[in-house]
Amino acid sequence: MELAWRNEWERNILILRLPDLIHDWLQVIDLTVTPWREAAACIDVTYQVSFFPNREDLLGVAKAKAVCATCPVSDQCLSWALESNQTEGIWGGSTPKERRTIRRRWLEEIRKAS
Ligand code: SF4
Repeated sequence: MELAWRNEWERNILILRLPDLIHDWLQVIDLTVTPWREAAACIDVTYQVSFFPNREDLLGVAKAKAVCATCPVSDQCLSWALESNQTEGIWGGSTPKERRTIRRRWLEEIRKAS
């Protein structure tokens, strides 16, 4: 009896998490099909530079940002990160905190324009 309840509970959790899982799967698919990623400066340095440094790791953040500064697709990268609301990592040369500020302004502009 307990096993049946546990399975039903797990099934309900799976149903509740399904939208998140689908969102994650779509992001993985998007990572593999977005054409601008092929020109990304980070492709060749992902083993030397982390694009997900800890917030306190200022040197790590600076290293990732230095790569982004040379990237020919940083605008597309930043746009993608804003549109998909990436809350972690360095994208388009921006930290999560910087993106929150940019995204807030970006959403305000969209709201004003509509
Ligand atoms: S801007 Fe930075 S994170 Fe984005 S693709 Fe270029 S190097 Fe990679």
